[in-house]
Amino acid sequence: MGGRTSMIIANQHDESLPTAIDTFGRPLRALRVSVTDRCNLRCQYCMPEEEYVWLPRETLLSFEEISRLANTFTSLGVDKVRITGGEPLLRKNLPSLISLLRTNAKITDIAMTTNGILLTEQAQALYDAGLDRVTVSLDTLHADRFKALTKRDTFAQVLEGIDTVGRIGFQDFKIDTVAMRGFNDDELVDLIEFGKKVGGEVRYIEYMDVGGANDWSSDKVLSCAEILQKLSAHYGLIEPIIEDSWAPANRFRLPDGTIFGIIASTTLPFCSTCDRSRLTADGMWYLCLYAKIGMDLRKPLREGATEEELRALMLSTWQHRIDRGAEQRKELEPANSRGRFVEIERLRQDPHLEMHARGG
Ligand code: SAM
Ligand code: SF4
Ligand code: SF4
Repeated sequence: MGGRTSMIIANQHDESLPTAIDTFGRPLRALRVSVTDRCNLRCQYCMPEEEYVWLPRETLLSFEEISRLANTFTSLGVDKVRITGGEPLLRKNLPSLISLLRTNAKITDIAMTTNGILLTEQAQALYDAGLDRVTVSLDTLHADRFKALTKRDTFAQVLEGIDTVGRIGFQDFKIDTVAMRGFNDDELVDLIEFGKKVGGEVRYIEYMDVGGANDWSSDKVLSCAEILQKLSAHYGLIEPIIEDSWAPANRFRLPDGTIFGIIASTTLPFCSTCDRSRLTADGMWYLCLYAKIGMDLRKPLREGATEEELRALMLSTWQHRIDRGAEQRKELEPANSRGRFVEIERLRQDPHLEMHARGG
């Protein structure tokens, strides 16, 4: 990864405040907030087990606590917040968290990633509360495949949720699909056509070996290059969209103008432009999806740390950030040593290592 330590980035909100820049010159801009570690699906690439060690309820941050931490994060440069989980819509009264975050003018973008099951009943209230963007995860258009992958029979609710979001008028609506060889590699075109119909931009995510993805193997990863090849065989010339962006997806345009994205986390990691960090539902702060150690922000928060103390802690943590997890995983490949990321026993001891605890 190219070091860019000399880069100076001003705090876009307030020049009197410091801007958090890490060891590689990456600013702290995007925060993913997991509001629960629970989920109503059991996607096999994320939660292959039926039962998990859940975070104790009393440790979960209240909405006021999340909002307080978010305010400190924004004083260091964060301007984008994504609500995730587990399944975020399982957390009661989620619109009131959105309203609270909305009171912070430094947050210019509030998004949510959801499996869509509970969207039909909640989408309007979330929109009214100020949620800007919704991403629904959908890996297949076949009910039987959905059930096989998620171990639940709720495909119809997801489709209804997607339909509801499409009609409400969110600024931006995306459909995220984990592309897996032997599972949905024959559905890439169908998913794009589905996206066109419901008004959602499809983004393919390469299968990652994070957390509980025990079934991961490199041959199941459908690479960005293969996805493009399959789509161009059907649609013809695909044009890359050149963007000056820190967003994880590479975006492309089909000949008819349809735009789609690919998040090539596994074959083309983008750690060098990663401005994201993750806050778990119980207040652990992780600087990388692959980070094994996080910082406990709940403890100082509940022990009465001042805003300045919290800011100093976050600033120095980010300034020491050296994380580039996906790149490091990839570097293991030539020696054939890309084994299991975390052993199951370790996952049981520390549920924070699970993807569903820290949010995707
Ligand atoms: N439950 C919500 C959902 O599924 O949209 C939000 C949390 S989920 C952890 C966030 C995203 O991570 C989803 O789009 C999911 O497909 C993705 N994800 C989970 N495990 C993954 C893996 N092993 N590889 C790639 N993406 C994964
Ligand atoms: Fe699936 Fe999201 Fe639940 Fe993981 S957290 S099992 S990706 S729905
Ligand atoms: Fe960022 Fe870590 Fe993902 Fe790399 S692996 S893009 S550093 S979260």
